Amino acid sequence: MRRSRTPLYLKGYREFESHPHRSVISLGFINMANNWSIPNWLEKDVRSRDKRCVYCSVKFKDNFRDKASWEHINNKAKDIEKWNIVLCCRSCNSSKGAKKLLDWFKSSYCLEKNINKRTIAKIVREYIKLTQ
Ligand SMILES: [Zn+2]
Repeated sequence: MRRSRTPLYLKGYREFESHPHRSVISLGFINMANNWSIPNWLEKDVRSRDKRCVYCSVKFKDNFRDKASWEHINNKAKDIEKWNIVLCCRSCNSSKGAKKLLDWFKSSYCLEKNINKRTIAKIVREYIKLTQ
């Protein structure tokens, strides 16, 4: 049998790139759901809950910085729970990295963008309450 030259994931990407509803598909394309083994029901719940970045509340767009990305608030990929899985923009995700939430709030990124305990989404405020 002849092997296809284009790896499957690239085929998916091409479809994504040319899709008329790119912004909708882009959430699907993050497909880290599979990498993070987030079950479908949870993925659905989180996507309908987090329409904006849970940290800086930017509305998700299809550009590099504002695209939605999966975030584990406590940075532990094994904790696949509703309180730990959120969507945030790529800027926040990369700025936060492996930092603890409260430490990250002290960073210049958060200070500049006014990201703190009072400005974050409810789900993250609840997380802070739960873990303190
Ligand atoms: Zn953000």
